[in-house]
Amino acid sequence: NDEINIISGALELQRKTVFDVMTKIEDVYMLEHNAVLDFETVSEIMKKGYTRIPVYDGDKSNICGLLNIKDLALVDPDDKTPLKTVLKFYNHPLVWVFDDQKLGAMLQDFRQGHSHMAIVRHVNNEGEGDPYYETLGVLTLEDVIEEIIQSEIIDE
Ligand code: ADP
Repeated sequence: NDEINIISGALELQRKTVFDVMTKIEDVYMLEHNAVLDFETVSEIMKKGYTRIPVYDGDKSNICGLLNIKDLALVDPDDKTPLKTVLKFYNHPLVWVFDDQKLGAMLQDFRQGHSHMAIVRHVNNEGEGDPYYETLGVLTLEDVIEEIIQSEIIDE
């Protein structure tokens, strides 16, 4: 029975897409790139409890950086450090993925270890104007693993 569960979990990874399991942009906790890491902001970040926080420029669909909670270890809130200073120092790579990518391929990407969070985008070619990239959400390794575990539980 375990073998059957593992096989069906693996099959799901070839069928389901990033879009199916991502966290939608409206639910993603982000910071504006002009933010200052004062007591109020750092407290808020800690309260939210996320490991990785996308940073946007002006509009939430315009993600320009990534903050890892560990980056705050050496930040003193009294210094009121600009978020930009910390982003520049650590300069974590942004990894982008298309919404229709299969979870199996995504798992391979995550295993390469460049980042355990990917920003999900989509080519919007509806309407009159030129096609453009639209940011839809974020995906982490945990979202993919949860999918494997879920399919195992349902199939039991
Ligand atoms: P964490 O280590 O922050 O708990 P995980 O990678 O374990 O994050 O992911 C847990 C869930 O939280 C996943 O569904 C993921 O998509 C979501 N998630 C991760 N970071 C954020 C964020 N900044 N805002 C909203 N949801 C997030």
